[in-house]
Amino acid sequence: MPTFDYAPAPESRAVVNLQPSYGLFINGEFVDGSGTAFKTINPATEESLAEVAEATTDDVDRAVKAARAAYRGVWGRMSGADRGKYLFRIARIMQERSRELAVLETLDNGKPIKESRDVDVPLAAAHFFYHAGWADKLGYAALGPDPRPLGVVGQVIPWNFPLLMLAWKIAPALACGNTVVLKPAETTPLTALLFAQICQQADLPPGVVNIVTGAGPTGQAIVDHPGIDKIAFTGSTGVGKMIARSIAGTRKRATLELGGKAANIVFDDAPLDQTIEGIVNGIFFNQGQVCCAGSRLLVQESIADDVERRLKRRLATLRVGDPMDKNTDVGAINSRRQLDRITELSAAGEAEGATRWDTDCPLPKNGFWFRPTVFTGVSQSHRIAQEEIFGPVLSVLTFRTPAEAVAKANNTPYGLSAGVWTEKGSRILWMADQLRAGVVWANTFNQFDPTSPFGGYKESGYGREGGRHGLEAYVQTGGVA
Ligand code: NAD
Repeated sequence: MPTFDYAPAPESRAVVNLQPSYGLFINGEFVDGSGTAFKTINPATEESLAEVAEATTDDVDRAVKAARAAYRGVWGRMSGADRGKYLFRIARIMQERSRELAVLETLDNGKPIKESRDVDVPLAAAHFFYHAGWADKLGYAALGPDPRPLGVVGQVIPWNFPLLMLAWKIAPALACGNTVVLKPAETTPLTALLFAQICQQADLPPGVVNIVTGAGPTGQAIVDHPGIDKIAFTGSTGVGKMIARSIAGTRKRATLELGGKAANIVFDDAPLDQTIEGIVNGIFFNQGQVCCAGSRLLVQESIADDVERRLKRRLATLRVGDPMDKNTDVGAINSRRQLDRITELSAAGEAEGATRWDTDCPLPKNGFWFRPTVFTGVSQSHRIAQEEIFGPVLSVLTFRTPAEAVAKANNTPYGLSAGVWTEKGSRILWMADQLRAGVVWANTFNQFDPTSPFGGYKESGYGREGGRHGLEAYVQTGGVA
């Protein structure tokens, strides 16, 4: 239980002007979809927020044609400096409308308002600001001689950071001179549709950004469309593999940002107060629905009991509940489907012999909720040590030597991120060298910055997003597109 109660501090939903239904954003306009419209719900209450159009193969074709026309036309002829002005304008409007974006994100996704307000939306705007700066400097980015855009890019994103993943995809694509057809996840389409309105407000030329809503089949229609030059995908490893198979043998390029099962490694010389905060942030941020979440805690055996005791004491103070309350630490799980998956994997953890502990906090009656949960006594072979749970569930394992920590950390099909907690700089460097992970955080976790490349090894995918490296995925240095 929390050590003391807070008075409710609800954010106002009045700042969002929800429409009863939304169309597809094609060629600068909202148009009807030809498929069967579907509802998007608030996962914290299960109330319907709006009806959203479903894009069929024909609708995707219209969007790709609009993107191609914009690419051949005004956008393809525009100087990098002018493209940069549009990106700056979009970034500024996102800042101006940040409260609206944050509230809408929280309503549609279930994440705490303090996270959408302080993390998702500012970082999304920062991605546009950062890439705006690159638009006229691509020739100096060491990308090779005469970097040119690829053409029309198809982008498919997940539901865990809807607006932020959109920014990671659209900002570099536009900065490099491409045009875009993007599909948000079916459970979280609303901030992408508000972003479409922001494109209109910024006077972005029609067809440069097209947003099509729908589920897997709509994504597949983008992947399969012959007019797409590159696919940028973030989501599950299973769908990522299907996409790689679909485009094999075509001239399409791809970047895939897939799942993870990060090790957060704590040595006996780590500063423990700071480490506990890092462990909590690593796995309970965004309800653990984070591809780079520190879902496997590896603790040096000599301090394991102490860390476990401190961690449980800290977790008992987490406030779980209404995501619109500014005091909430842990919000709702995004969908019933995801809740079922977390529930199933946690049950498997118990069945395989790990010890389950949760915070015992009260949960709201409606909506999709899962208590912050810790498994101790986890062994390498347990499913909860191998499979991505994508929820607020931490698996704790122990080690004795740095070499054992490395062996255990790398014993996973994934390789997206890792954390190292120690006061020894030399050990941090050695560990970073040994760990097969795209990102290694030292004495911190879940830090994101548009200047820093992000991406994985092994089944976590390929390609980098962010930083100078992220630009490479959106340019070619050979012939003409
Ligand atoms: P998913 O891969 O099914 O969905 C991601 C996106 O791909 C969505 O927009 C979806 O509509 C689209 N999609 C689905 N099938 C497609 C297809 N055949 N072709 C093209 N696009 C397709 O992921 P999910 O169902 O939302 O989540 C399931 C699991 O994925 C989670 O439990 C988690 O393990 C993982 N996940 C990872 C990330 C990440 O950032 N790496 C994000 C979300 C989910």
